[in-house]
Amino acid sequence: MRLSGKTKVFSRCLGAVFACLLLSSQVFAVTLQSVRMHEAPDSTRVVFDTNGKVRFKVFTLDNPHRVVVDLLNVNGQGDFDPSMVAVARERVEALRAAPRGSGYRVVIDVRKTLKPNAFTLRPIDPYGHRLVVDLIDPDQKPRILAQPRSRPDRNVIVAIDAGHGGDDPGAIGPRNILEKQVVLQIAKKVKKRIDNMQGFKALLIRTGDYYLTHRRRTELARQARADLFLSIHADSFKMASVSGASVYTLSDRGATSETAAYLAERENRSDLLGGVGDVSLSNRDPVVAHVLLDLSMDANRSESIAAGEAILANMGRVTKLHKRGVEQAAFVVLKSPDMPSLLIETGFISNPKEAKRLSQADHQNNLARAIARGVKQYAHSNPPPGTLLAKLGGDMRYTIVRGDTLSTIAQRYGISSTTLKSLNGLTTDRIRVGQVILIPSGG
Ligand SMILES: [Zn+2]
Repeated sequence: MRLSGKTKVFSRCLGAVFACLLLSSQVFAVTLQSVRMHEAPDSTRVVFDTNGKVRFKVFTLDNPHRVVVDLLNVNGQGDFDPSMVAVARERVEALRAAPRGSGYRVVIDVRKTLKPNAFTLRPIDPYGHRLVVDLIDPDQKPRILAQPRSRPDRNVIVAIDAGHGGDDPGAIGPRNILEKQVVLQIAKKVKKRIDNMQGFKALLIRTGDYYLTHRRRTELARQARADLFLSIHADSFKMASVSGASVYTLSDRGATSETAAYLAERENRSDLLGGVGDVSLSNRDPVVAHVLLDLSMDANRSESIAAGEAILANMGRVTKLHKRGVEQAAFVVLKSPDMPSLLIETGFISNPKEAKRLSQADHQNNLARAIARGVKQYAHSNPPPGTLLAKLGGDMRYTIVRGDTLSTIAQRYGISSTTLKSLNGLTTDRIRVGQVILIPSGG
């Protein structure tokens, strides 16, 4: 639409240069097209969509509390109707807008003093120019995070990150099934299951429909001193027929396959969609930072792969796998050197059948159970130091010999076959000679 407007202008320019200048200033006047709000635990984000780069001024007023956004070069509201904005009710009361001078004024009535932080974003498909105003809640205490590492017999802490959110929908499936919604539902279910396992505690990194930068996600996990970082996603591919789940670990030396490279590129694009205001992420010397990353990552790489294999094996029991083995790709969200990290693609949202399944509670529960079991098996065979799990010595590994049945093994160790099956992610009583199973130790 913007292109055809331009073409029209240029053709007229051939006639009269002077008239053209006049006309173009009218045609290219910046208009406000829509306003969206996303609520995060510690801030509310207001996004203004405009059809050109906007010049702005933001300030606050008290009695009653207001945040005023002056859009200095916006002299038309286009199709925008302030009464249609879905107001984020926790901190915002209402939104009003009206022309003011040669610009346009938006007044946000807020319930308390909020500190605004505003910045513009360049167009990226599907968005045009955006002005982002983050309203930061100074009263919001940092989230109560996990116990200190020094506590004896601490829990194993698992950070669960639902990908995307807010302005970044992630992959979009048929009938508008959105990756950001599906993965949050699955992440919440995984958290519930992990919290129910003895010796474990899960932390949800994103708790609602808002965006967190990649950097912020790992930062939150690090603050919680997480032992494992799981980023949950759903895939998309140009061919709708492609389906199945996969698990990725970080590689700083490029991807193990073409799909992995393609995925990394798509997932890494999130920060541009979701909106990062401050691009100067760190003032640390990049060379030193990179060396540090390399050093600690080597130790984590094999652990990440071990955790990935345990999760993948369990997922394979409840869904089709896209790839049998754990793949490696250069995902930004996994650049968290001090903890083993995994990116779990739960399935292809671009596949109509799989998209439907991914949005159904039953299938989400199956996936969540499989992921939690994988975490349990991995942590039991690699208990982090200082944890209750490490104290109990983890689970015993038992190799099946001829004549064993699940019930005789269960009897021998004084546990129920149900416990044994659940710990090992078994859905039937079938076992085979040479198979290694875990026997719970301690109690
Ligand atoms: Zn994703």
